Amino acid sequence: MTDAPMTNPPQAEQGIHNVIIIGSGPAGLTAAIYSARANLAPLVIEGEPSSTSDQPGGQLMLTTDVENYPGFPDGVMGPELMIKFREQAQRFGAEMLTDKVTRVDLSGPPHGVWVGDPEAPKPTYRAWAVIVSTGAQSLMLGLEAEERLIGHGLSTCATCDGFFFRDQHIAVVGGGDSAMEEATFLTRFASKVTVIHRRDELRASKIMQDRAFANDRIEFLWNNVVTDIQGEEKLTGVEVQNTATGETSVLDVTGLFIAIGHRPNTDLFEGQLKRKENGYLVTEPDSSHTEVEGVFACGDVQDDFYRQAVTAAGSGCMAAIDAERWLESAGHG
Ligand code: NAP
Repeated sequence: MTDAPMTNPPQAEQGIHNVIIIGSGPAGLTAAIYSARANLAPLVIEGEPSSTSDQPGGQLMLTTDVENYPGFPDGVMGPELMIKFREQAQRFGAEMLTDKVTRVDLSGPPHGVWVGDPEAPKPTYRAWAVIVSTGAQSLMLGLEAEERLIGHGLSTCATCDGFFFRDQHIAVVGGGDSAMEEATFLTRFASKVTVIHRRDELRASKIMQDRAFANDRIEFLWNNVVTDIQGEEKLTGVEVQNTATGETSVLDVTGLFIAIGHRPNTDLFEGQLKRKENGYLVTEPDSSHTEVEGVFACGDVQDDFYRQAVTAAGSGCMAAIDAERWLESAGHG
């Protein structure tokens, strides 16, 4: 794209937006930057701060140092990076709505998008093109105590909560890159971090493993699963069971961080967009097109393989270009 000066955005036809972008992680905001610079005046429905699944900014808001995003040789904090993405989208005229999409009707184009009451007879917004970038969220263990103790010693976000565990012994469950990243970060605060993993080898990449193994504040509890989280008003211990011997024991920790993977935020599209068995949206190969005309998907909601901020941003760019070309060929934008 060139740096041509902006002209006035086209008037929306009968109140129909050119593009609505659902979600505001790296994918959604990159789609916003590109579609705003293509003069499409996108509306970005960015999620709401109270919800962990669709909070504005996506998963990077729960991250600490991002060392692998190109352009930041000294690294950047996840939330800071997302603020920059958002400012860049706004600079070119993307409209940001801090709200949660409650329903979609993708039987168009034009397609309907509801915020607020999903039973309302008419959609709150309509758009010729919809870009879905709702991302993914943390998986939980499925234990009863999780709901009671989340925010009271139990966390899915080391960035948000690590500070509260200064000089304490805490645990991280999981054996992937997320678990290694969280455990390593948490040693900035905790006196000791025990990684509880259900197998005897990690899934994490070698560099992340090596970093964790080299950290003398991290110890590993292999072949163990968490069977209970103890404490009424705050977490006081974690019950684990050895998968080989069946023996249970209690880890005397004051914090537990869950880092066992993610689930795509695709419930909203059930029955309307094709999903894979694991829930991720299906897009055409090497493109962001879904099988529904005028609907595009990008970022973690359709990527169960790379799942990186930079690949999400790249696919957001693809979605904006795909949407722009589709709008033009369909005679809309
Ligand atoms: P992941 O790679 O799917 O790893 C999940 C881990 O949790 C696995 O070790 C798994 O055990 C364990 N697990 C899953 N369900 C469990 C359960 N119910 N009870 C106990 N343990 C359970 O997920 P992730 O670590 O979130 O990473 C996701 C993707 O993001 C990966 O592609 C990763 O490379 C990437 N990532 C990259 C970075 C980075 O480069 N800075 C940071 C974070 C994530 P098993 O091994 O036994 O299956």
